[in-house]
Amino acid sequence: MTIISNRLQDILATIDAVKTAHNAAQNVQLLAVSKAQPASVIREAYTAGQHKFAENYVQEALEKQIELTDLDIEWHFIGPIQSNKTQLIAQHFSWVHSIDRLKIAQRLSDTRPAGLAPLQVCIQVNTSKEESKGGVAPDELAELATAINKMPYLKLRGLMAIPAPTEDLMLQRMQFKKVRECYDALIAQGFELDTLSIGMSGDYPTAIEQGATFVRIGTALFGARNYT
Ligand SMILES: *Cc1c(COP(=O)(O)O)cnc(C)c1O
Repeated sequence: MTIISNRLQDILATIDAVKTAHNAAQNVQLLAVSKAQPASVIREAYTAGQHKFAENYVQEALEKQIELTDLDIEWHFIGPIQSNKTQLIAQHFSWVHSIDRLKIAQRLSDTRPAGLAPLQVCIQVNTSKEESKGGVAPDELAELATAINKMPYLKLRGLMAIPAPTEDLMLQRMQFKKVRECYDALIAQGFELDTLSIGMSGDYPTAIEQGATFVRIGTALFGARNYT
């Protein structure tokens, strides 16, 4: 067993243990966040059984995708989206978690190749009112969700959020609960959603407890990122 396959097994075991402890009924999937990791590391995790990977930077992701075309990877985009990158994202990813405005959604739909399945998308919500964080305010979600539901090449699946990192479990719980409430409110309004993308290395057990269906994990799987 390699270090990565050991860590992968540990994370999957933790996910199961947390689900059991909290009677969590939802399906929880691990998304391996491979930003700043080389293609060789992705290949190693893939060989260990992990097939869903997430990237934050388009150019970096495309370079790795070219090296990994022999693998059946499901690629997710989770980074901030510049409008001049929408076409590449629409062409080269199955999922986008970080939609935060109408214009980006429209461009992704307009440039999604017709031969591919609709792009599976989440709206990024910002429940903390921090301007720097990115994401849609809770009271703007329904309008954006309604618009996305009319776009032929996008399939709205749910919400994503990146709450401020904290080791305080109470605070983690409060932050994820707010996201969960936004998600439940949309469902109550009739939106058919099944995806809550919350939780990273430092807080994923709490996210699962609050209903996460995707946890996005980088450091706990691959070790510290080395930006050079
Ligand atoms: C980097 C990143 C992650 C993974 O963070 P870790 O703390 O390394 O697990 C998850 N989600 C997003 C949006 C990220 O940018």
